[in-house]
Amino acid sequence: MEIEPAEEVKEPPRIHRLDEPVVNRIAAGEVIQRPVSAVKELVENSLDASSTSISVLVKDGGLKLIQVSDDGHGIRYEDLPILCERHTTSKLSKYEDLQSIKSMGFRGEALASMTYVGHVTVTTITRGQLHGYRVSYRDGVMENEPKACAAVKGTQIVIENLFYNMIARRKTLQNSADDYTKIVDLLSRFAIHHIDVSFSCRKHGAARADVHSVATPSRLNAIRSVYGLLVAQNLIKIEASDHDPSSSVFEMDGFISNSNYVAKKTTMVLFINDRLVECTALKRALEVVYVATLPKASKPFIYMSITLPPEHVDVNVHPTKREVSLLNQEVIVEKMQSVVESVLRNSNESRTFQEQTVEATPSVPSVTNNDLHLSPSPSGSKSQRVPVNKIVRTDSSDPAGRMHAYLYKNPQKYLGRDSSLTTVRSSVRQRRNLKETADLTSIQELINDIDSKCHSDLLDIVRQSTYVGMADDVFALLQHNTHLYLANVVNLSKELMYQQVLRRFAHFNAIQLSEPAPLQELIMLALKEEDLDLESNENDELKKKIAEMNTQLLKQKSEMLEEYFCIFIDSDGNLSRLPILLDQYTPDMDRVPEFVLCLGNDVGEISLYVQGSANGVAWPIIQRVRLMGRPCEQIKSLIVAFIFS
Ligand code: ADP
Ligand code: MG
Repeated sequence: MEIEPAEEVKEPPRIHRLDEPVVNRIAAGEVIQRPVSAVKELVENSLDASSTSISVLVKDGGLKLIQVSDDGHGIRYEDLPILCERHTTSKLSKYEDLQSIKSMGFRGEALASMTYVGHVTVTTITRGQLHGYRVSYRDGVMENEPKACAAVKGTQIVIENLFYNMIARRKTLQNSADDYTKIVDLLSRFAIHHIDVSFSCRKHGAARADVHSVATPSRLNAIRSVYGLLVAQNLIKIEASDHDPSSSVFEMDGFISNSNYVAKKTTMVLFINDRLVECTALKRALEVVYVATLPKASKPFIYMSITLPPEHVDVNVHPTKREVSLLNQEVIVEKMQSVVESVLRNSNESRTFQEQTVEATPSVPSVTNNDLHLSPSPSGSKSQRVPVNKIVRTDSSDPAGRMHAYLYKNPQKYLGRDSSLTTVRSSVRQRRNLKETADLTSIQELINDIDSKCHSDLLDIVRQSTYVGMADDVFALLQHNTHLYLANVVNLSKELMYQQVLRRFAHFNAIQLSEPAPLQELIMLALKEEDLDLESNENDELKKKIAEMNTQLLKQKSEMLEEYFCIFIDSDGNLSRLPILLDQYTPDMDRVPEFVLCLGNDVGEISLYVQGSANGVAWPIIQRVRLMGRPCEQIKSLIVAFIFS
């Protein structure tokens, strides 16, 4: 055995103090890890500045240029010299403030960091000033005196040549194509949480924005405009809260995808105390629930906003604040799990339709609207568990998808009655938005009116009859016990449409027109069609005037039309979206000109209502929107399928 020569004993290496610029650059590299982290910091600053509109422009995945413009309160001239120094902030004074911090920023580190790894230019104007200022920064300090310049309300921050002095990082990022995707993803997340702020995100040189959201009171609308209809129409609202200090204190609301939703990757948009964060534990826990509850379902889409007492959240645990640490995290994760589980189970039960013979006694508990607004009650939810393969969607007390669910919404009354239906068909069933009906009391009154006028015996006949066939264009033949009935499908569909409009009021899904249609042209078309005297051109001027006025009027009321009816009219007077009144039913597009004309007239009348109730405002339009669903062949067959499947 050979003895190795003893190693030369090395002196311990010397410890020395790093130069300030090196320290700063290293620290900056931690805060600004990639272009998307710079965008996040800048957008959060804009949000902290109470902006209502934030637009982002990106070139070369953010390496060449990131520009964030907002309409917030701006930065005072006197603050500009220290704006980009490390640890200068307007949001925190003493350490204790961290306990109750509401703003996203607090370290005064972001802008400083950006100046160590890129070239930063700030243009800003504060309220009441005649002009703004522009100034550039390098390594924490101003490169020159702020120059007076023209400016629009708010602040614009431009970062050029990010990581110009960090060769390795720039190289790795240059090779990765997905930074812009990450930025779009980030803005999408902000846009569906901060629904009172408009966001846009555009690639330099591109004509269209990749994220474009307008402020809206409805979260679902925001999700629809950012993530698309296919996501929005497959969501279920969730809510939960706990106020027991011995276990956990929180409030949560959100949307989760149902079993119709298809995606390869989980999308989990999580805000904790309005902070966009990640929580791997929660994400995994919820994925597990999906796999267990909807075995065949795809990865979920989850939007969740959790509010906790600020002192229960430590926001200062991650350099980019991407993660936060929660008091009682495990308890909270468990509660979220059980809420999501029971909501999913209920929704699953209400949509499991299989062709089977009816069992005599209904074995499946029914799901009502109210059940979807759950408070966490883990024990309660467990008792409802029925294995999916045992669920037979033949219980007549379960109203989902049935005609009588549209016509009448008080299933309790019918619980326990036997069903005489023999089959159910899955083809026409699509998840409806069972969630919120309108929050407006006047709409509720109209709904109550319908409910109170419901004829229960007739309803029973509708519920328990079997479709035989169409007798002619208008009447359908149906059988109930030993009787045959003729049902006027035209009238039924009118009523159905009307009730649908009420129930979906302010929560419509949208039909997106492939090309936005100019209102003025639509109205002209309708007017010309109305005018049977084809020879006369003299009226054309008049028609033009009417079309112009109506377009103006509709543009003025576009916000209300969008909010209540999902009728989307842009600032150029183009119609781009119409409401879906019945899932799977596309209205006759030839009638859109006529519809728009009526709408214009109605909106005119509506303007005459002085501070009218929502009822007064909405009523004529409800009638018009309902017209979109005039019975044509498509709707007849759909309704027949709905009622009698
Ligand atoms: P922090 O956000 O942690 O305070 P930052 O370095 O991000 O630190 O920003 C420093 C300060 O600059 C902020 O505290 C704020 O006063 C001001 N500021 C930054 N961006 C904006 C903006 N878009 N609008 C108004 N003020 C801003
Ligand atoms: Mg900040």
